[in-house]
Amino acid sequence: AAARSGSGPLALLGPPPGAPSCPHGPTLLFVKASQGKEEGRRFYACSACRDRKDCNFFQWEDEKVSETRLAAREEYNRNHQPPFTHRQNVDRYKNFVLLPLSRRRFCQECQQLLLPTEWEKHFDHQFLCGITTAQLESPSQLLYPLENKKTNAQYLFADRSCQFLLNLLIDLGFRRVLSVGTPRLHEMIQSRASQEEEFSVRSLLLDIDFRYSQFYTEDEFCHYNMFNHHFFGGEAAHETCRKFLYEENGERVIMVTDPPFGGLVEALASSFKKLMAMWKETEKEGHDNREMPMFWIFPYFFESRILDFFPSFSMMDYQVDYDNHALYKHGKTGRRQSPVRIFTNLTPSMIVLPEEEGYRFCTVCERYVSSGNQHCEICNSCTSKDGRRWKHCVLCKKCVKPSWFHCNNCNCCTLQKHSCEKTDIGCFVCGKAGHKRSACPSLSRT
Ligand code: SAH
Ligand code: ZN
Ligand code: ZN
Ligand code: ZN
Ligand code: ZN
Repeated sequence: AAARSGSGPLALLGPPPGAPSCPHGPTLLFVKASQGKEEGRRFYACSACRDRKDCNFFQWEDEKVSETRLAAREEYNRNHQPPFTHRQNVDRYKNFVLLPLSRRRFCQECQQLLLPTEWEKHFDHQFLCGITTAQLESPSQLLYPLENKKTNAQYLFADRSCQFLLNLLIDLGFRRVLSVGTPRLHEMIQSRASQEEEFSVRSLLLDIDFRYSQFYTEDEFCHYNMFNHHFFGGEAAHETCRKFLYEENGERVIMVTDPPFGGLVEALASSFKKLMAMWKETEKEGHDNREMPMFWIFPYFFESRILDFFPSFSMMDYQVDYDNHALYKHGKTGRRQSPVRIFTNLTPSMIVLPEEEGYRFCTVCERYVSSGNQHCEICNSCTSKDGRRWKHCVLCKKCVKPSWFHCNNCNCCTLQKHSCEKTDIGCFVCGKAGHKRSACPSLSRT
């Protein structure tokens, strides 16, 4: 809802108590900021889908909804749940693995493991045969990545980045990973746990992509919406998560999340705070004033937004690479660099970045920085955000991108090509002035 194209800027006011629900759980309250007017009219819309085509829920805040419409809405919500429950999918999986290889089919159109009795229904669909155990252990390879740009674009970690993350977590001493929207990390942990006896890390995947319920039990996967902290599996799923967060025998927990980044940082932050609170409640005394350790993987241009909500976080220089993302792949030339970083509430000096990839330790900043990130003597910090060497501007009293110059009209550093008018309202996505959400350079992922 937040970044619907064509409409004016929308601000989020939620998540309000007593909000009506769509098939994706409680909706959020938005306001359509209209030019000139003090306040636009407020309305409820889907928390998860930014495209009306995917979920067309809409209700003015002050709208009276008739009993008939409420009943119809409930019916609609029921009918828009997945065809099988998680329990049913777990049972289906058990039957599926009993089948000989030759009878193991996966329907590519329905994105579903098929039991022989179901073949007929899918007879004119494309399907894969001979699904191996290895394939079942890597569902993120078997399922096609959801590519809906607005609602649910799945960008899967490149193997190197995923390995790096997992090794880092292990080296930091974590034994439990709450994987929120990180199916590939979850999968790497699960498959190593099934292959290596001494491997003691466990993971619980929370994701809105219900296709994963075909491959994982209720203890391994919860159908979850991270924009409104909604567990589709109700209280039982809630309890699964709560249990997972409880640190038995000193098994430390960390949450890792890689959300879609089309806006709604405040909704994400609000959900993550609730997950942190769940962790805190699992042990009354033991946590002192600590926060649940977290890795929030997000583009660097969201740094100030994230710090607004989580002042204890800092941004690491590590560039997270993706498999199915043309722009963010770590090219041989190094020209295309991923803007995606790790934000964490752990002490930065503990996050050791790979020296073989050019990262080095800055003893003044006490953290690893990318090779191009020069320590600025005036700022007394390694100031580059994007990996390139930034330059210090004495007039702005800070370091800026190498491509910027100081404009005396605007009294700040900016791109050479810009129109010297001050726009008060910053971009809805990155918060910077000078462009609207629709033209935000940070959103041009492909
Ligand atoms: N890099 C990660 C995937 C990140 S893509 C990896 O390789 O593991 C974003 C993930 O968030 C996807 O898995 C997607 O299904 C999930 N997601 C998108 N919207 C969501 C929502 N509203 N609630 C929970 N998960 C969501
Ligand atoms: Zn089918
Ligand atoms: Zn430094
Ligand atoms: Zn500087
Ligand atoms: Zn200027």
